[in-house]
Amino acid sequence: MITDDTTFRPDSQSVSDSQVLQRGERAMERAEDSQIQMQAQMQMAQGIACPYCGTVNDLEALFCASCGKPVRMARCPNCGNEIDPEADFCEICHHYIKNDVCSFCGARFDESAAFCPECGNPHGGIVCPTCNTLNDFAFCKQCGTPLTEEAKMLSMELHKQPEYLELVKMANEMQELDMALPYSSERDVVLEKANNQLRERVLTLLANDRGVAHPIIPKKVSKRFTQEELNQRREEMEQKLNSLLEKMQQTPQPSPAKVRNYAMAQKPYGLRLAWECNFKHALHSSPCGCAKPQLGGKWIVLGKNNNQDIKDDK
Ligand SMILES: [Zn+2]
Ligand SMILES: [Zn+2]
Ligand SMILES: [Zn+2]
Ligand SMILES: [Zn+2]
Ligand SMILES: [Zn+2]
Repeated sequence: MITDDTTFRPDSQSVSDSQVLQRGERAMERAEDSQIQMQAQMQMAQGIACPYCGTVNDLEALFCASCGKPVRMARCPNCGNEIDPEADFCEICHHYIKNDVCSFCGARFDESAAFCPECGNPHGGIVCPTCNTLNDFAFCKQCGTPLTEEAKMLSMELHKQPEYLELVKMANEMQELDMALPYSSERDVVLEKANNQLRERVLTLLANDRGVAHPIIPKKVSKRFTQEELNQRREEMEQKLNSLLEKMQQTPQPSPAKVRNYAMAQKPYGLRLAWECNFKHALHSSPCGCAKPQLGGKWIVLGKNNNQDIKDDK
């Protein structure tokens, strides 16, 4: 035992030295901490200062009385994480959190109500008849199916608008481009040219037989491009689509439900789109995954080989 003690003496000596040092540091940290705490307490006693304009607000205030911006973060009632006090959806646990506001139409209602008195939809969400996903919002976040009567009407109405029709036309062109085959080699190009020349000669001969001396042979339009041409066309289409989607963007407005519903009703099938919100300029798979769609946003085309970070809501 004694030998053990002596063997360890130098060690324990150095440990105790560093302990003394640590203790000193900790004491200083504690002093600093209590100073910070005191400052904070003094600020708290006066109120809470707005981080945007500096106005001192009531202790309990969530929003600044002067500029209206949030003065503190709120907590998600579902997962407890800090969230924006104006958010109606938690991007961390993917739950709708405003229990007194209808997620389908935005009307206020009693928390205990099972159905919204305004639109009649169930508080607990709607299961999509197409893909069986449970949804808090009026369009299926997974497959885009309109789930409420209002959503169906809105879709029908928006799908008559010229911008939407233009969008569908462009989406079809884009799909055709995606299916177009690139020439795999220079030989393919030469072969196709030879085939076309042969075709023209045969058709001319046939016409000559029928007594037409100089027939006009309609050109056969090839559905094939070089890889470069194809990439260029794709890029052009993407730009055209994005500028149209830009024109169709949602501007800020008070109701998050309206923005979600409009944006979902506008979305054409067959395109790889992401929703870029004005809240954090994040990319969502749809505005159903954004905590504050009321700030507006727009759909953007995701390129064939780009999987930009989508903050998904699944
Ligand atoms: Zn303020
Ligand atoms: Zn949460
Ligand atoms: Zn409702
Ligand atoms: Zn669905
Ligand atoms: Zn967002």
